[in-house]
Amino acid sequence: MILTVDDDPGVSRAVARDLRREYGEHHRIVRAESGPAALDALREIALRGEQVAVILADQRMPRMTGVEFLEQAMDLFPRARRVLLTAYADTDAAITAINVVDLDHYLLKPWDPPEEKLYPVVDGLLAAWRDAPDRPAAAIRIVGHRWSARSYELRDLVARNQLSYDFYRVDEPEGARLLEAAGADPEKLPVVITEDGTALVEPTDAQVVEAAGLSTTASTDVYDLVVVGGGPAGLGASVYGGSEGLRTVLVESRATGGQAGTSSRIENYLGFPNGVSGDQLTTRARLQAEKFGTEVITTRTVTALEPKGRARVVRFDDGSEITAHAVVLATGVSYRMLDSPGLEEHTGQGVFYGAAATEASSCAAQDVYVVGGANSAGQAAMNFSRHARKVTMLVRGPSLTASMSHYLIEQIDANPKIEVRTCTEVVAAEGTDHLEKLTLRDRNSGAEETVEASWLFVFIGAAPRTDWLDGVVARDGRGFVLTGPDIPASPEGRRPTGWDPDRDPFHLETSVPGVFAVGDVRAESVKRVASAVGEGAMAVSLVHRWLENG
Ligand SMILES: Cc1cc2nc3c(=O)[nH]c(=O)nc-3n(C[C@H](O)[C@H](O)[C@H](O)COP(=O)(O)OP(=O)(O)OC[C@H]3O[C@@H](n4cnc5c(N)ncnc54)[C@H](O)[C@@H]3O)c2cc1C
Repeated sequence: MILTVDDDPGVSRAVARDLRREYGEHHRIVRAESGPAALDALREIALRGEQVAVILADQRMPRMTGVEFLEQAMDLFPRARRVLLTAYADTDAAITAINVVDLDHYLLKPWDPPEEKLYPVVDGLLAAWRDAPDRPAAAIRIVGHRWSARSYELRDLVARNQLSYDFYRVDEPEGARLLEAAGADPEKLPVVITEDGTALVEPTDAQVVEAAGLSTTASTDVYDLVVVGGGPAGLGASVYGGSEGLRTVLVESRATGGQAGTSSRIENYLGFPNGVSGDQLTTRARLQAEKFGTEVITTRTVTALEPKGRARVVRFDDGSEITAHAVVLATGVSYRMLDSPGLEEHTGQGVFYGAAATEASSCAAQDVYVVGGANSAGQAAMNFSRHARKVTMLVRGPSLTASMSHYLIEQIDANPKIEVRTCTEVVAAEGTDHLEKLTLRDRNSGAEETVEASWLFVFIGAAPRTDWLDGVVARDGRGFVLTGPDIPASPEGRRPTGWDPDRDPFHLETSVPGVFAVGDVRAESVKRVASAVGEGAMAVSLVHRWLENG
């Protein structure tokens, strides 16, 4: 693909037209009218496992300059050749960009006639792109049924772990050919074919990420600090734990990034005036944690915590365990499921919980339903509106104002593709091997309506998954972990039951000394990325106090 971005629609169309005329036969020309929109397009292209050969960006764009855009585009397509379109007055910016974003070329506008000024440049860049060693073949090839829930789970798992993958439908010739080549039985799907050609039949999550080189087991038995959960809070604790010399291990049950990793754009995180995609932010955080020596293990769920003297034993779902001097619980929250008839059967087959980024491009030109009225639902509706024909938000309450940030409500109001239906709930779903119909009920009148629907994305309140802490760590009635002054005192005194140290619990400390809770899982915490990261960092300073003085 060749991607071009220019905020001036006339110029944008003209560049795309000229490129299409010369290169349209062999390349797809993708055009965007702002840096953020172009980044979204690139992300989608990356998810589909396709390649971008050349990117042309205008320098002067209002929300994000061309150089800023190219800097982020490099993270997604490091091999794509980069061209800045500049006015004469901007040549200084272009020269700076040669270093900052490793710019291949800058083109002065206008580029007429393209035969002289544009095509020779793009020809050269395409040739250079082709000559450079080709992109490594996708690390993982998944063969499965288009609408199988497990094959969706695996695509989501590898995409969220930033692993490159290609998906092949078993009913298409290439999928069938791959299965035959691997000697795999088409009745036992999904099959994952690893980089070295091994076929994993109906594999577990751990087998898949292990085959792609991620770690799923701890390298040693004893750590200074075990961080449970790899969302922003856990990543914050891991970066600070590692950088401050603690032997730190981060244990994540699915993919680092947590809820934030599924956000298409976080606009209120400090330092990113143009917003940042959740996966970019959290992937960088993971790299940062690893750079500081934190060990990251994925697809391992912690199922038990046991204090033994001053040691804290953490047990995994496979029965193995590690011991630590301190533990940070950063397990966040998970979406609640809708329990109307028909929804469970279609989970992964048209019904998705969360943003399901792997599916966004499949909704192109179709109708999408989004359930929920909070920011996560609003962001998703905005994101889907870029591809879908229409997005209908189904909101139980009478308006969005109580649950959504003002800036998002304004964006939704101004978006002609989004319809908000308040006081509406989903009461049933139907379909054969994929969602086909939804029954909606008006909560005021009780009137029911059945609509044709293939895509339903659910973002309804989230709950902590902390049952495994029952009887060990004090929690509130909804399962959130209590910390510091919120922990109830024992009947005999002002400190928690079973509390040994001769001090009150630290601010982020749970009812078990040396065990801390941060981010969304903590009772009364602010459910935001910045606060989760901040609490993760702060917990590490309290860990030091615990390690030094008890
Ligand atoms: C779609 C979406 C958009 C959002 N947009 C914004 C935004 O724009 N701005 C903003 O400030 N906030 C936003 N939020 C909220 C923000 O993402 C959360 O507040 C933040 O992610 C909380 O971080 P956390 O680390 O506490 O928990 P989480 O992000 O929930 O991470 C917890 C992690 O722990 C793992 N885990 C759970 N249990 C276990 C276990 N037993 N063993 C091992 N691992 C476990 C989970 O798999 C998960 O990865 C958004 C949320 C969503 C869902």
